[in-house]
This record gives sequence, C-alpha cells and structure tokens, in this order.
Amino acid sequence: MHPKLIKLEENFKPSILTKIDEPLCTQFNIELWMKRDDQLHPVISGNKWRKLKFILNHALYTGSDTIISMGGVYSNHLHALAYTCKAIGLKNIAYIRGDAPTLLTPTLADLTAWGTELRYISRTEYRQLRQYKSYLDLPGLKPQQYWLPEGGAQPLALSGLAELVEEIEISYDYLCVPCGTGTTLAGLISATPDHISLLGFAALKNASFLNTDVSALLAQNKSNWQINLDYHFGGFASSTPELLSFIKAFETKTNIQLEPVYTGKMMYALYDLISKGHFNAGQRIIALHTGGLQGDRQRRL
Ligand SMILES: *Cc1c(COP(=O)(O)O)cnc(C)c1O
Repeated sequence: MHPKLIKLEENFKPSILTKIDEPLCTQFNIELWMKRDDQLHPVISGNKWRKLKFILNHALYTGSDTIISMGGVYSNHLHALAYTCKAIGLKNIAYIRGDAPTLLTPTLADLTAWGTELRYISRTEYRQLRQYKSYLDLPGLKPQQYWLPEGGAQPLALSGLAELVEEIEISYDYLCVPCGTGTTLAGLISATPDHISLLGFAALKNASFLNTDVSALLAQNKSNWQINLDYHFGGFASSTPELLSFIKAFETKTNIQLEPVYTGKMMYALYDLISKGHFNAGQRIIALHTGGLQGDRQRRL
C-alpha cells in the first residue's frame, strides 16, 4: 500500500458492529447487527473509501497525478474522492451531471473548497461517459491522468471489501448491503464463503441490470447472492413519507443516523422482510451501514 494511503488511514476509526435490539427481532428470534462503515471517517463516506483505496493505490503507483471521475450533484463518490485526492496530493476533475446549479449543493461546495475542477455536462454526455469502463478508456486522457468510472465501479474496488469482510469477527448467516452500481455487493460476494447469503437492496428503480453488472465484476461464478429490487421507493433520489418516518423512528430508537437513498431503504426493507417471516428463527443478519450521510445534509437543514 502506498505510504500516502497508509498515512491517511491512520486517522480512521474502526467500523464496529452494533447490535440492533428491537422487539421485532426478539419476536422473530432474529439477531440484527449493523456494520458501521459510517463511522470510518468523519468526511470520507464508508463504502466509498473501501472502493477507492486500492484504485488510488494503483493510480499512485502508476505515476498518475490527476483523477477524473463523474457523478451527480450530491454524489458520495465524488465527495469522498475529492477529499481523498486533496489529502494525498492528487488533482481531481469531476464531470457533473446537468447544468451548474445557481446555488451549489453542500457536496459541490465542498468539492470546490477542496480544489476539484467541476465540469458540468448534459445528461446525454453523462450517459456517454458511462461507456468508458476502464482507467485508460476516457478519450483525450493525458499522460498521468487516471479515469475513474461512475461510482468507482472497477475490479480493483473489490479488494477493499475483502478487508471489510475480514474485520467481521462473529459468525453470521446474511450480509446485506444497499446497491447503486452493485460494486460494493460484488466485493462482498467475492470475499465471503459460500455458506453466507448476500442480499443486495437496489436504490434505483428498474435495477435488474444490477444482476448482469455484479456478475461481470465477479471473477468466479457464485450463487449465494440475490438482489432485491422491491424497495426503491420510487427511484434513486425518491423517498416516501413512510420511509422518512421509518428513518426518524429508527434514529430515535438506536441513535444511528440513516439517509434515505441507500441505508435507510435497506433497513426499511429488512424490517419489512423480518416481519413477513422471510428469515428463519435463530439467524443472524449483518447489515452494512455504507455511510453517505453527507449527501443528506440539505434535507436535514
Ligand atoms: C455509493 C453508495 C452505495 C452504493 O454502492 P455501490 O457500490 O455503487 O453499489 C451505497 N451506500 C452509500 C451510502 C453510497 O454512497
């Protein structure tokens, strides 16, 4: 590992396991735990660090001085990337979907403060960027520039998730994770033994493409995983009053903050599935809190 990354990681906190004590779990004799990647770092969103670590290591060791990536105006990926680039002395360029907003989102304001160069592009251009899937693929890339596709969806990202799995010191039956690109899920699948069931929860509507994308990232054929497509609450950036009141109640009871794009939807789904008898008595579930709270700052104002 590059010394700059080792040094940065010295400031990280451990991602602990927190047991969620709920009457619902007692009633169905289910043990529910959260792995707290939201606690890893005050700024760098949990699963984004897991995915970025080995990619940036590769970029540093191949002599890159600039990382170019893409995302939306609330992107946790761009936020984590911008902060990390500044911390390790890399330049950062971000293609942003859509027109420049008159008022910067908190995410874009941070990117600007950290020296990221923002380039606003149309939705059509944004979609075109998605076809460049490897670090040298972006047309016009200069020497020392490193292209990082949307959400850090790269085979190298998977190694960071193997570290996460190694940290888990209890036995368990299910490992659950919210899905955007499915890269985090793919990393967890690669690193867990076959007797563990992996459950992904799609944050997007019509996300059946995730099955193909996750399979494509996996080096071996595995069958101990599934992606639930039913709890998108209307789409990626959408939520419902029901979801928001679930999150509020959960936060009050547990003191664990959730956001409505990813982990909030997954926890709602898990409560719903537990109450419907989806899990067997005696089973232990670990749900990954992927972080992402920075993207929810505006709603909480
Ligand atoms: C990006 C993100 C995800 C989705 O990760 P993928 O690897 O793209 O599936 C989940 N949770 C949070 C908080 C995120 O920011």
